[in-house]
Amino acid sequence: MSPNRPQPRRLVDNVFMVGGPDLSDPRDCLCYLVCGDTASVLVDCGSGPSAGRILDLVNRACQRTLTHLLLTHAHIDHCGGAAEIRRRTGCQVLMHPDDAWVLAQGDSQRSAAHWYGLGLETVAADQMVEEGFRLSLGGGQDLTVIHTPGHTPGSISAWCWAEGQKVLFGQDVHGPFSPAFGSDLGQWRASMTRLLDLKADILAEGHYGVYRPVQEVEDFIHKQLSLHQG
Ligand SMILES: [Zn+2]
Repeated sequence: MSPNRPQPRRLVDNVFMVGGPDLSDPRDCLCYLVCGDTASVLVDCGSGPSAGRILDLVNRACQRTLTHLLLTHAHIDHCGGAAEIRRRTGCQVLMHPDDAWVLAQGDSQRSAAHWYGLGLETVAADQMVEEGFRLSLGGGQDLTVIHTPGHTPGSISAWCWAEGQKVLFGQDVHGPFSPAFGSDLGQWRASMTRLLDLKADILAEGHYGVYRPVQEVEDFIHKQLSLHQG
C-alpha cells in the first residue's frame, strides 16, 4: 500500500468524506458517505474517471456494500461516476425528478459536462426522491431529503443525526448560477432559508469543505446569501 494512499476522512461517528479534489480527482465534488446499520449511502460520486478510487475509499470507511447513491443534482462533478458505481455495487440511484432527466439523457449543457471536457454516461435513476423522502439507515437513523431548488431545479439536500449532531449535506449551496443550469435565484434564496431553519451542527458542502459548529454553518450560508442579493 502506498503511504500516500488517501484515507477516508471521518466527520463524525459513521459519516465520512470519501471523494474530492485531493482524495479522488481534481474534477470531483466533495463526496460523503453515511455508513448506517442496515444501509450505506454515498452522497454524490464525482465526475466519473475516479469512480474506482471513490469506491475504494467507501470500502475502507464502511464494511457494508454500498446500498444507495443519492445524487444532489445532475452536474457531472457530482454524478459522473453514477453508472460505474451502480455497475460495481448494485446500489440504487436516487435523484429528484427535476434533475433526473438530465442524467438520463446525458445533456451536456445542463450537466455542465462540456465545461469539464468529459462525456457523461447516462443513468436512469432507480428511485425518484422528493421533499420529505426518508431513507432508513437502520438503528433508528434516517437520511431525510429536502428539495432545495435554485442552483438547478432538482437540487436536493439531505440531513441525518450522527453522534448527536445534525449533519447537513448541502452540496453546491454556494451556486454558481446560470441560465444553462436552469438556475433560479429566487428559489435559491427560499431554499437557503430552509437550510438555515434546520440549524445544522455540521454542513458538509460540495466544494468548500465542512463547516461546524452551528454558527459557522449559519455564517457560511448568510455569506452566500449576501453575495447574491436580488
Ligand atoms: Zn452543481
